[in-house]
Amino acid sequence: MDTLLNRSRAAVWHPCTQMRQLETAPPLAVARGEGIWLIDPDGRRYLDAISSWWVNLFGHCNPRINAAIVDQLGKIEHVMLAGATHEPVVALSERLAHLTGLGHAFYGADGASATEIALKMSAHYWRNAGQTEKTGFVSLQNGYHGETVGALSVTDIPLFKSTYAPLLRPTAQVPTPDARRAAPGESAEAWALRCADALEAHLAEHAATTAAFILEPLVQGAAGMAMYAPVYLKRAREVCDRYRVHLIADEIAVGFGRTGTMFACEQAGVRPDFVCLSKGLTGGYLPLSAVLTTDAVYAAFYGDETARGFLHSHSYTGNPLACRAALAVLDIFEQDDVIAANRDKGEIFTDIMQPVFTHSAVRHPRRLGMIWAFDVPAATPGFADRFHRAALAAGAFVRPVGQTVYAMPPYVTTEEDMRHLVRALTVGLAPGVIAS
Ligand SMILES: *Cc1c(COP(=O)(O)O)cnc(C)c1O
Repeated sequence: MDTLLNRSRAAVWHPCTQMRQLETAPPLAVARGEGIWLIDPDGRRYLDAISSWWVNLFGHCNPRINAAIVDQLGKIEHVMLAGATHEPVVALSERLAHLTGLGHAFYGADGASATEIALKMSAHYWRNAGQTEKTGFVSLQNGYHGETVGALSVTDIPLFKSTYAPLLRPTAQVPTPDARRAAPGESAEAWALRCADALEAHLAEHAATTAAFILEPLVQGAAGMAMYAPVYLKRAREVCDRYRVHLIADEIAVGFGRTGTMFACEQAGVRPDFVCLSKGLTGGYLPLSAVLTTDAVYAAFYGDETARGFLHSHSYTGNPLACRAALAVLDIFEQDDVIAANRDKGEIFTDIMQPVFTHSAVRHPRRLGMIWAFDVPAATPGFADRFHRAALAAGAFVRPVGQTVYAMPPYVTTEEDMRHLVRALTVGLAPGVIAS
């Protein structure tokens, strides 16, 4: 195992990591996965409490998803999607259209490329509509939409953004409806409405040069699972309509049941102009993303000139294996009535969470659907790493974001698993972990 860690350190550049830290804090070597468990080469098991960066829905090595991919392997592993098509991509596009109320699925391989696609499509729509000056974008403070250059331009997380700021296009940010920011005594809804007023004020001034407003509906994940009232989405939809600005819903993290509904926007009864999907789309199996949009947007690209069409491509667009994994995931949602089952599970898990939620070091305990989060204001620098180590020693893989600890376990987690996780989280709340 030492050898594997050494080889990894020498050959692999790990994401979002100061590689030097791996000298003292080596990564977890994972030999296999089984349901919600990550298993190291010595057979030790760790509960994958954050679903492998929020992608896994139905556990590792899920027999039903495995079977779908194996079946597809015997047919066609990949074919380019320009000039060719195949059953898995057609079937997936039909089903996603049915679920989102938006058709015309355009595919990428990861979340950031979905953001790029939505931004380009929106600006190109306005160009095709003769409004060439509408090329700007607005996003929420603390929003996260990926880290390629275009996506990073609408991301607002200083740690990821400041270093690369000179490479980025200027974009505007409007106040986040994050419920934690409400004034003392102010409800989450009242605060959300004040933020929506700020959005309106911004668009009233800048609509002529703004193509789209992009947001993470209901939960800003990378900001530290910041949750906000659905009324913000409702008002954002109204305001975007009034000022003729597209609304892009980045459901990359929150889609596929994470917030308790299949898509977060459903909780506000709004339909965005574009929806970005990835992460849970393949159940955490294969890289795939999709952007779906309205008939009106699609129609603006339809014509005789090539330059009017959407000029964007990735080699692995609509990969058949990934599409089959996604179709298997949608089958599981249907066959197991997952959204309804999670409703009960969510309540029970929240009860199990109470010892942590009511812990004296914990502030802002919050939960939406299958996401639980809380803040530890007394945490000193290095807390996230200390917590990660402590929880790991207690058999759970958890990665706090700054002072925020969250659990976003796969949907196949049981009550007993949840109790195991709560024990590990409690170990992470020991005084020596919070401050050192
Ligand atoms: C993870 C994430 C992305 C980026 O997806 P990648 O696959 O990591 O590029 C974009 N938006 C949101 C909301 C995300 O959580």
